[in-house]
Amino acid sequence: MDNFKLQNDDVHQKELLIAAMRVAEEKTARLSAIIESSDDAIVSKDLNSIITSWNHSAERIFGYTEGEMIGQSILKLIPADRQDEEPMILNQLKQGLRVDHFETKRMTKQGKFIDVSLTISPVKDKAGNIIGLSKIARDITDKKLEEQRKNDFIAIVSHELKTPLTSIRSYIQLALNKVRDKEDAFCENVLTRAELQTRKMYTLINDFLNLSRLEEGKMSLNQSKFNLQELLDEIVEDGRVLAPLHRIEYHGAPEVMISADREKIGQVISNLLNNAVKYSSSGTVITVNCEIDKDEVLISIADQGFGISTEHQKRLFERFYRVSADQEKNISGFGIGLYLVSEILRLHCSEIKVESKPGEGSVFSFALKVDEEA
Ligand code: ADP
Repeated sequence: MDNFKLQNDDVHQKELLIAAMRVAEEKTARLSAIIESSDDAIVSKDLNSIITSWNHSAERIFGYTEGEMIGQSILKLIPADRQDEEPMILNQLKQGLRVDHFETKRMTKQGKFIDVSLTISPVKDKAGNIIGLSKIARDITDKKLEEQRKNDFIAIVSHELKTPLTSIRSYIQLALNKVRDKEDAFCENVLTRAELQTRKMYTLINDFLNLSRLEEGKMSLNQSKFNLQELLDEIVEDGRVLAPLHRIEYHGAPEVMISADREKIGQVISNLLNNAVKYSSSGTVITVNCEIDKDEVLISIADQGFGISTEHQKRLFERFYRVSADQEKNISGFGIGLYLVSEILRLHCSEIKVESKPGEGSVFSFALKVDEEA
């Protein structure tokens, strides 16, 4: 009887094993079908960057067959000036971190450079040890070309608009000077308003030009040593003229010298001040504060406006991001101002910070190093 039960248990175990193997086989077959039919190159490699698998799209995108690549180093695909990317990627993955949508260039068998977006994840064994890496490479050459065309378009249009606008502004300023002598209050008022509008357009065009330079990786800093206090005085004065219905309070620090790109830091502060005006109601107070803390100067711009929810705060500095709240529906903009602010500050090794509560207002702030030789 006992013998019979043992035999029965054995048969049952065997059947379970066969069923488990069948499930595993089916799973593997399904996974390989997905990998083979994917439009993206899917490649796996060991921790020494040696390729262990190579799908059909990898062959189509890079031009090498599976036979040519298995056992070869992934470095074969990496252009000479980007070879240091591989150790950097490996380092990140060894710390258990994924590499997500990393945009770079790779080289095909024919020696052509293509734009790719890489997503790389660690492959782990049951004990959690990293035994290899899986890599998905998407060919984004067409997307990059399209972006390039858009960028060129923005750059050309901005340039074409800037030249006549500069002339218009000079003519208005000339006319204003004449009118002031004649004490014609009406014409003076009209021309002053026209001049203000050209200033606004000028800022907008400059933002677009900077955006296209940034996208091309061509934004560079024109560093000089200057008095931040003077720059702030100019911007606050302009702000008061442009936004007469707001109360702009200004608490400046004594003379403070910094080494930075004067024009671009000016754009940062003007952008933040313009936003404070745009996203708060007339009659409210905007406070521009500048104070020295040890070797840094802290600049903040606070408003009593609509405020920004935590969810939107996280995305505020992305290119073209705009909050689509009801009260902002009629406020025009392109969502590039804060993107430029954060990129310009990043180039100055600084960072833009925001504190805000919906319905109460926002404070945007950043710090810059004080020039010690001052
Ligand atoms: P734009 O003002 O052209 O839309 P920005 O990049 O300057 O572009 O700002 C992005 C978004 O951030 C704005 O659309 C607005 O919703 C929000 N925002 C910026 N500054 C403020 C502020 N001071 N108060 C409330 N919301 C703001």
